Amino acid sequence: MKLQIPSHQEPRDAQARKDVAPVICYPVDGLARPNLEPFHAARAGWRRLSETLVPPRDARCFDVPAGHFFRITSVEGPQVGDLNLWAAQDLSERFFSGKTRALHGTHLSAGDRMWSCLPYLRPMALITDDSLDWYGFDEFGGSVHDVIGTRCDPYTHNLLGGGQYHHCCHSNLTRAVADRFGLPLHAAEFAVHDVLNVFMCTGFTRESGQYFMKASPVRPGDYLEFFAEIDLVGALSACPGGDCSTLHSSDHAACYPLLVEVFAPFALPLGWVAPTANGYNRTHGR
Ligand SMILES: [Zn+2]
Repeated sequence: MKLQIPSHQEPRDAQARKDVAPVICYPVDGLARPNLEPFHAARAGWRRLSETLVPPRDARCFDVPAGHFFRITSVEGPQVGDLNLWAAQDLSERFFSGKTRALHGTHLSAGDRMWSCLPYLRPMALITDDSLDWYGFDEFGGSVHDVIGTRCDPYTHNLLGGGQYHHCCHSNLTRAVADRFGLPLHAAEFAVHDVLNVFMCTGFTRESGQYFMKASPVRPGDYLEFFAEIDLVGALSACPGGDCSTLHSSDHAACYPLLVEVFAPFALPLGWVAPTANGYNRTHGR
């Protein structure tokens, strides 16, 4: 956090330096904004392949073949979910929340993509529908579906308050990955990564720049829908924070399940082309 009383005197031209207008780090004009119409049209006559009910304070994995849709739906009560994605054939290719944030901003919605980590950096999933897109940003600068948080975890919990809590999203995802891939817990843990915070309402305070959360506006029936651009394994944790209005990393908050459904379209969206490998040649100047 920035010092309330700085140690160094501001220079004479401090105001002029501050007045410089910002520029967007990564202008995405070169990335064609996807036309969602063919994706919405492809939902007509789609067939539900599977459904997974993620229990509160726990996580489950699910498989989504390329060219299929998956939907995360709130059921029973307001609940936040922590989402991880991997390339089905290679656990080292995983969702890259940092670069997704740099490309699409702090909070995702329909038309944004979830990108994979380096050295892959290709679209893993396209968000095709968001029933909370009406929320926009509130007066606190908060919005939903962030890529600015990480995932609640027992190490930070221990660091800040001591104690052993085993149902943080990090642990929930670790157990789900261990079960899905037949890995020991300590190996599975390394596959868990920073998440898309589905339905979570977050932002940064204007005064201190601190990460904040507030009660999610999600209600039963709300959903976030994705189109898998590559073969995916996903994992979703129903966060112990529930709607994340007060506490997380404990059993105090009211928690509800989340539903994940996978759909096979009748036909692939018109014009959709599977992403190819990133074009960088990986010689790194040598
Ligand atoms: Zn959590």
